[in-house]
Amino acid sequence: MSVTANDPKRKTWINTPENSDFPIQNIPFGVFLTRDDIITIGTRIGDTAIDLGAMHQLGYFEGIPLTDDIFLQDTLNDFISDGKKTWRLVRNRISDVFDIKNETLKNNEDHKSIILFELEEIEMKLPVQIGDYTDFYSSREHATNVGTMFRDPENALMPNWLHIPVGYHGRSSTIVPSGVPIHRPMGQTLPRGAEKPVFGPSRLVDFELEMAFITTDANVMGEPVPINEAEDYIFGMVLFNDWSARDIQKWEYVPLGPFLGKSFASSISPWIVTLDALEPFRTKGPKQDPEPLPYLTQDGNHSFDIQLELDIITEEGVATTISKSNFKYMYWTMAQQLAHHTVNGCKVNSGDMMGSGTISGPTADAYGSMLELAWQGTRPVPLNDGTERKFIQDNDTVVIRGFCQEGGRRVGFGKVSTKLLPIFGS
Ligand code: CA
Repeated sequence: MSVTANDPKRKTWINTPENSDFPIQNIPFGVFLTRDDIITIGTRIGDTAIDLGAMHQLGYFEGIPLTDDIFLQDTLNDFISDGKKTWRLVRNRISDVFDIKNETLKNNEDHKSIILFELEEIEMKLPVQIGDYTDFYSSREHATNVGTMFRDPENALMPNWLHIPVGYHGRSSTIVPSGVPIHRPMGQTLPRGAEKPVFGPSRLVDFELEMAFITTDANVMGEPVPINEAEDYIFGMVLFNDWSARDIQKWEYVPLGPFLGKSFASSISPWIVTLDALEPFRTKGPKQDPEPLPYLTQDGNHSFDIQLELDIITEEGVATTISKSNFKYMYWTMAQQLAHHTVNGCKVNSGDMMGSGTISGPTADAYGSMLELAWQGTRPVPLNDGTERKFIQDNDTVVIRGFCQEGGRRVGFGKVSTKLLPIFGS
């Protein structure tokens, strides 16, 4: 089925600011609370939020096999379960309804007053009930930097790294949407030179500049997802800040990996941009050498050119862009991650979320964590207000933006913005 929603020539009757992340070619999916306190599934064009539940009730999805309440839910899980064919039919239909040449809804003031919202009138919620969250570690530059700092520059990459998309099972209960503040975590750490651990607020709170993909039901238990089919089970992507407490992490992570240093908070952007909408921005990832095992081998372009930027905004409101990276730097592709994740028969469900791992580029201004940008605190990062940061301070806000842009085409993710508050109860 052709994805007519991606037609670059299509224009919309919705007023769309130039350079918007959300032109009519995007049509992402999200969940929001309306001005009437009703939760609904929606999309967005420009700065207008569109209530898909209301559109469905008013007959705009006629002819598409959808249950009556598919968009009147507080998560996208059931819609995502309907599969790729349905996602495409719905995106194509939305694109038609808002096409500049289609006057049906455009000229129906009653319907517009029910379906359309200003962004100020809505509150974005988590788009899916995330059953399981897995985080990979798939940026070669990041893994090399961390290995250099924590272990040995000569053997920075572990022996498995070039053969396996390394990952771990994370915690979904503390994933929050953009705008929800988080607290500095308490925990156990071993101060430098000390022999016994201490308990207190983490002193080394960090962000991780990542993206994540959301899956549909991919398999039954026991059945691997073949690499060449893996992308069919990826609904879309979000920006992802995988908050990390480096001092807690460093003390706890041997031998079983990250635990409380990670599970206190992770933040995502609220609009899921479909893999279909990202199709025009496919690109090749880095060359893989040694060649992966056959179950991880794929031909063609399986990465995406997504520009990423990260700002720190101080309590006084001064913003500084401290990193510019790109999703295409990832060594392992999403398809390889999903094929590897399921090769042992692990079941993947609708609404599961897979983090890319910190996305660091080849140069020092493209690193995806404070740990790397300030190189373990040895190269403090200057901010525009004259202060500097080794890690994140209380009341700093961290903002990640992401977008694809090429030859006048743009599809973006908006942002994930999160304020770090002092410890809970302080
Ligand atoms: Ca991570």
